[in-house]
Amino acid sequence: MKEAPLLKQPSGLHSPEGARADPEALPCYDLLRDALVREGLRVHDPATGRHIATVRDWPDADINSAIERAENARSAWSSRTARERARILEDWFDLIIARAEDLAQLLTLEQGKPIAEARGEIAYGASFVEWFAQEARRIYGEVIPANQADQRLFVIRQPIGVVAAITPWNFPVAMITRKLGPALAAGCPVIVKPAEATPLCALALAQLAWRAGVPRDCLTVATGTDPARIGRILCRSHEIRKVSFTGSTVVGKTLMEWCAPTVKRLSLELGGNAPFIVFDDADLDVAIDAAMLAKFRNAGQTCVCANRLLVQDGIYDRFLSAFRARVAALKVGPGEQPDTQIGPVIDARAATRIASLIADARDHGAQIHGGEPIAGDGHFVEPAIIAPATRDMRLAQEEIFGPVAAIFRFSTEDEAIAIANDTQSGLAAYLFTRDLARTWRVGEALESGMVGVNTAAISNEVAPFGGIKESGLGREGSRHGIEDYLEMKYLCLGQMN
Ligand code: ADP
Repeated sequence: MKEAPLLKQPSGLHSPEGARADPEALPCYDLLRDALVREGLRVHDPATGRHIATVRDWPDADINSAIERAENARSAWSSRTARERARILEDWFDLIIARAEDLAQLLTLEQGKPIAEARGEIAYGASFVEWFAQEARRIYGEVIPANQADQRLFVIRQPIGVVAAITPWNFPVAMITRKLGPALAAGCPVIVKPAEATPLCALALAQLAWRAGVPRDCLTVATGTDPARIGRILCRSHEIRKVSFTGSTVVGKTLMEWCAPTVKRLSLELGGNAPFIVFDDADLDVAIDAAMLAKFRNAGQTCVCANRLLVQDGIYDRFLSAFRARVAALKVGPGEQPDTQIGPVIDARAATRIASLIADARDHGAQIHGGEPIAGDGHFVEPAIIAPATRDMRLAQEEIFGPVAAIFRFSTEDEAIAIANDTQSGLAAYLFTRDLARTWRVGEALESGMVGVNTAAISNEVAPFGGIKESGLGREGSRHGIEDYLEMKYLCLGQMN
């Protein structure tokens, strides 16, 4: 893998010295044109390390005025009928689908994931817009039988107010639509702060939303080089009534502190440490296919990635040898090449952190297959297997967030559950068995917000996504996802007789 020609130049985008030669060659240039500037936040292609675009570094005053405009636009947006908002979101969905290929190319360019995965993310991301367009029309109230004959009691649900969405770089489209869909459907204006590495998809999505009819002041994308500066303004604002954040646990905890003085509603989708448990009675082929997806999708950079593969004694050797063969065959390269399965990791810092986790595992006596850094300007990491991994290694507690599979060995079901739950995280978990009773037992015992049984494909717009313990607060997607953007109001009407 190391000697593969990894660093093919994306056509037309770069001059030899690395300055972007032709902005018009950017995918979605027509959507991005107005957002490109000379000085500001510089965006790079993680496959080559090259500069591809520069977008605004929003000054404080502009962020504050965007919040004010959103607050002023709030009442008009929430007063539209649910049907009108639904229609606008449906149009936005159609525009995203019409530009799906361009958006996928832009996503791969700034984020690095293989183009097939980028196409999948556009469809997945769009599905939240479509779903919440439909859910806009299902925000129901209640009539409560009153204790007094002369009273009538009602519950109505109203939009919470201006929302800040702080989003990560690993799914630069889907993590935005999963927040914007329900917020706009509920009647809330939104200020989005995309990750520094991936602002372009956010800007392109916003342009499509405005074209679909979302009022300008109801959707702002505030880009910048210093996330703490922007985050602090958003969290401390009285006008912003809710912050929805997807990202690291450490930043999530900081945002909680910053939101405390204004008692803001918070949705947090934070880090995971997913156990992936393979019992002796599992279907080996099913488990291996799922492990490849759960571990290596997006080069291992997802919060529901299998962080710890726990494999029972009786199937351990067969699992390891089949898994090794599959991992050795993975093709590493720039995401734009159609046969690439593992793109670059997001930046040099990520590659260094992954290398340090591997070194720590080696120091604790693990055998390592692969995992060598790949020379060049791009941030590529060779896929690796660490076996057997043990609980004293850093990767047992830390999110690996890279194409590195740590395989733990266990003997009994109780032991597997104890290892699986031995973490402060509780986002996703996976188990592989053909025993129905065990499915229930282990499924109920696992401390996580989501459990995949004999599958790793658990994320979709119709199911509630979210974690317990330090993995977060709230749920996104599903019929529950819109609740976080609504306040419940009780109306007690007297003198009814
Ligand atoms: P990762 O470590 O995976 O990059 P982060 O939690 O740092 O995850 O990033 C997720 C999002 O949070 C990004 O939009 C990033 O810009 C933002 N972010 C990072 N640090 C802060 C901070 N101190 N305050 C507000 N937002 C932040």
